[in-house]
Amino acid sequence: MSEVRVRFAPSPTGFLHIGGARTALFNWLYARHHGGKFFLRIEDTDQDRSTDEAIEAILDGMRWLGLDWDQWEKGTGDTVRQTERFDLYKEKVAELLNQGKAYRCYCTAEELALRRQEAMKEKRIPRYDGRCRERSEAAPDLPFAIRFKASTEGQIIVDDMVKGKVTFESSTVDDLIIARSDGSPTYNLTVVVDDVAMDITHVIRGDDHLNNTPRQIQLYEAFGYPIPHFAHLPMILGSDKARLSKRHGATAVQQYREEGYLPEAMLNYLVRLGWSHQDQELFTLQELIDKFAVEEVGTSAAIFNPEKLNWVNAHYIKTGDPKALAKPLMPHLAKAGVSDAMMDMDKLHRIILALRERSRDLKEMAESAACYFLDEIPYDETTQKFLRPENLPILEAVREKLDQTPFEHDPLKTALEAVCESMNQKLAKIAQPLRAAVTGKVVSPGIFDVLELLGKEKTLKRIDRQITQLKEAVA
Ligand code: GLU
Repeated sequence: MSEVRVRFAPSPTGFLHIGGARTALFNWLYARHHGGKFFLRIEDTDQDRSTDEAIEAILDGMRWLGLDWDQWEKGTGDTVRQTERFDLYKEKVAELLNQGKAYRCYCTAEELALRRQEAMKEKRIPRYDGRCRERSEAAPDLPFAIRFKASTEGQIIVDDMVKGKVTFESSTVDDLIIARSDGSPTYNLTVVVDDVAMDITHVIRGDDHLNNTPRQIQLYEAFGYPIPHFAHLPMILGSDKARLSKRHGATAVQQYREEGYLPEAMLNYLVRLGWSHQDQELFTLQELIDKFAVEEVGTSAAIFNPEKLNWVNAHYIKTGDPKALAKPLMPHLAKAGVSDAMMDMDKLHRIILALRERSRDLKEMAESAACYFLDEIPYDETTQKFLRPENLPILEAVREKLDQTPFEHDPLKTALEAVCESMNQKLAKIAQPLRAAVTGKVVSPGIFDVLELLGKEKTLKRIDRQITQLKEAVA
């Protein structure tokens, strides 16, 4: 096989969506598996709906996921934008027109809408009736679109790598508009022209594009271009079998980053939306590259299951190297109020080690980690249960003992056990108010670890504050 060349071709009208990210990932894996090239092409010809922010969001999401793309041609920059390529499209439209493979269509939008309505009323499939196709009279001085003269006979067979052979009757394929009346080219034309210009060998995309494929194949044939291989990926649905949408939770990849997901979790989850390898759930990136085959993608729709994604994410957090987790954790710590000046990397690594088993995501981890850095901590509602006047003697006794204790695990353990004994209480009875007072939360790692990580100064200051407040409350 010659070099594999694939592309991800998003229309920049919003964020990088789960579905788009999966398409990008499958293309990327296919290219990396075969030692080929993966390009990013921004399909921004719909200038009313395309925005620079959306382009940035897509690039940002791809970078976060680690889906790096190749440079197509020297001097073209990293990404290819279709709006920079209008001259080529115009040339290609003119070529089809000159060869009699396309024609000018003077039908107005109103006329077309009326005919569509009539067709619907008569229960016919609405399609262009070919009125301007064989027009012989002189061209009127009116605005026109350019339509491709589709063949009306025979069949078009898409030999899809995922779906197998899909047959379309040519008679059902419309004469599609390839240039609008303002001269701007349309999607099906630009895709074909660019896929050829970029020597794309495999078109891997969502199956919402399957109906465009016969039209595109006709265009390839009209231009005399070789036809690439196609792989149409099944849709992604929510658990209610409706098309994945905001109703099912976050659909933008960036939102997952903000909510504390790790890119490796996201990749592992995305890859399973349509592809599987025996019953393996988790893969290293190298395993994915080695094992992924687009031919093995299933034909039925994939169901998006947020619980499974949470499980995968928690797995990567639990087993993550604290040094590697520190970097993606930092933005979440900043959101939880921890400034760079408060940061101490050694301490952070120890905190991550203590928290990773019990954190579902990085946001939660950062919220639990913040109390070890902040001067003033927020208190969860749930701490009220333990920060009550009847626990005042416990806090006072603990405070007195800790003041004389070195802040290391074993001496801390001995000290708290001594308090338990003198008060004739179980450790939990002592640890809960103490935990609530020093962390602002009711769950945390083991209390001795917490105290050691906090250090004496912060611990005593926080206990003192609670003692004062409780005393004021009873006064
Ligand atoms: N721009 C199209 C989209 O975002 C993709 C076109 C293609 O992959 O051929 O849906």
